[in-house]
Amino acid sequence: MKQGFFTIKETTSKTRPDGKSYSCASCGLYQFVLSPRMEPFGKFQKRILNIGEAPGEMEDRKDRQWQGKVGQRLKMTYTKLGIDLFEDCLNINSINCRPTDKHGNNREPTPNEIACCRQKVLQVIQQYQPKVIILLGGSALQSIIGYRWRKNFGTISKWRGWTIPDRDFNAWICPTYHPSYIERAEGIEVNTVWEQDLKRAFNMIEQSLPVILDNEESHVEIIDDLEKMEIPKHGTIAIDYETTGLKPYATGHRIVCASIAVSEEHSYAFMMPSSKSGRERFIDILADKRIGKVAHNMKFEETWSTIRLKQSVKNWVWDTMLAAHVMDNRADISGLKFQTYVNFGVVDYSSSISSYLRSTQDNNANTMNKVLELVKSSKGKKELLTYCGMDSLFTYQLMKKQIGRIKP
Ligand code: URA
Repeated sequence: MKQGFFTIKETTSKTRPDGKSYSCASCGLYQFVLSPRMEPFGKFQKRILNIGEAPGEMEDRKDRQWQGKVGQRLKMTYTKLGIDLFEDCLNINSINCRPTDKHGNNREPTPNEIACCRQKVLQVIQQYQPKVIILLGGSALQSIIGYRWRKNFGTISKWRGWTIPDRDFNAWICPTYHPSYIERAEGIEVNTVWEQDLKRAFNMIEQSLPVILDNEESHVEIIDDLEKMEIPKHGTIAIDYETTGLKPYATGHRIVCASIAVSEEHSYAFMMPSSKSGRERFIDILADKRIGKVAHNMKFEETWSTIRLKQSVKNWVWDTMLAAHVMDNRADISGLKFQTYVNFGVVDYSSSISSYLRSTQDNNANTMNKVLELVKSSKGKKELLTYCGMDSLFTYQLMKKQIGRIKP
């Protein structure tokens, strides 16, 4: 098992609101179907795992995935793209028993049913070690990503089309629409997008996962003395600030710490010195026109620098947030955390401190967050600096990847 892959115990440790654990017993669907706990099906020759929604009537009757009209559509499309659904892939669903409504018709699985079956889905991944995991529709997305991504989860429209080098699974995760959505959709556009997504997913079979830094946190160098930094004279750096709020103008606001990534593998992180002389080295870097600057939303670092450090940033060369938006203009995808996950497969490197960084009043951009509380302890300070250093490190990595894609 790959290091970093969560243990089965970890995924089952969360209990339901009623105190029961997520299990077949607490779900209960298996009692009412012809084919309880449907087993995975397919020869898996190309190491593709398809995760659908749930068995329907035909599947329940035949004890096998994708046997009805929707399954035929999926099989036909895969064949057109050079993949045999049952020879090249393994097939499972987000839940393994057919869910029905009170009239006996198919229905969508509930979040509780998905949670109850998740352990089984993860066991299949662990056992078969797929190279590519195709998530067909919202239930599969919820099963595999939902429990690791709680904030702004969104819908399948936000997630479809990415090929995510997921580090927990050591596989490419490729979400796209469920074939029943394609069956219902009018016009050819949705089908074209779907086929493009699938094509992209199938191309990943030949691609190795990107080589990753073994332990990102160790690539952040926390420093007290800013003179220690070795900054490339004519190079490019990524900068990131952690501040007391969103806007620098209101009284009492300040930049708490900053980080500078000087390569894809190395960043410096430091508390912002309170004295002008202590900050001098950093101000010189900002003012140095020979050094190219990158940020994820440069407007933020620019405004805070100008207002609080009295120094505008010279020689901005790239904004990774803007570039992400130019490359894909869907809503709610250009944030650094989302971009880091879909590009580098890192789900979450900020959960321990994210509550401190949130504004205490959602609708007032001038309010203070709780970051000053966090830095009262040396543990909190180290966590914040590490997080800040990772932000600039991922910004640097993202810049490199985006430039590779955008520039010929
Ligand atoms: N729909 C699914 O999501 N899965 C199946 O196996 C069949 C239909």
